[in-house]
Amino acid sequence: MSRLLVATNNPGKLAEFRRLLAPLDADVVGPAEIGIQLDVPEPHDSYAANAAVKAVMFSRAASILTVADDSGIEVAALDWGPGVRSARFDDGDRARGPDLVLERLAGTDDRRARMVCWLAVAAPAEGDADPDVELFAGIVEGVIAPARRGSGGFGYDPIFELPDGRTTAELDEAEKDAVSHRGRAVAAALPRLRELVAAHARMPAIAEDA
Ligand code: IMP
Repeated sequence: MSRLLVATNNPGKLAEFRRLLAPLDADVVGPAEIGIQLDVPEPHDSYAANAAVKAVMFSRAASILTVADDSGIEVAALDWGPGVRSARFDDGDRARGPDLVLERLAGTDDRRARMVCWLAVAAPAEGDADPDVELFAGIVEGVIAPARRGSGGFGYDPIFELPDGRTTAELDEAEKDAVSHRGRAVAAALPRLRELVAAHARMPAIAEDA
């Protein structure tokens, strides 16, 4: 069976990817499972560029088909930020990001928000050539809840409220997968991933000592 690497060190994200990629005939692995330890910075101003860099670096290191994403929350009253900077919005204390959004929105009527995900798929190329990269996107619209609610998901899920009034932390896993930005990006990528998984399953494995 062909292996597919998910380039993330975030356990919540990896768990979601494992579920979303389950329809593929592939063994979905995280970096730690194949002994890869890479911390790739996200220096760019676009999700697509950050996702592509991650996918290429992990794919080069592992020599296998790799999926990476870059995602974020965009809030109307914060000039549609923090967006691509969502992971750094909280000055390194990831658990505080949602509280910071709630504080900044105190007393604000316009609570519109959206979650955005860009997915990069990197397929190893022959020899020293750069991996080929393909990009897919997913978006879900909602509002910032008045306070944290729900214990599912991760990151900004407890404050991101869908039109049905529930936060994404109040959904069960299948419900979140069906509507989330990441679920939508993976759904867009699945037909192409099926082709790539099949093509790479036919390729001879690269010898360990090559
Ligand atoms: P990154 O894509 O790992 O750089 O994540 C960017 C920021 O968005 C981090 O603070 C994540 O916690 C947050 N984030 C990414 N995906 C989700 C999600 O599905 N739900 C809630 N927060 C998310």
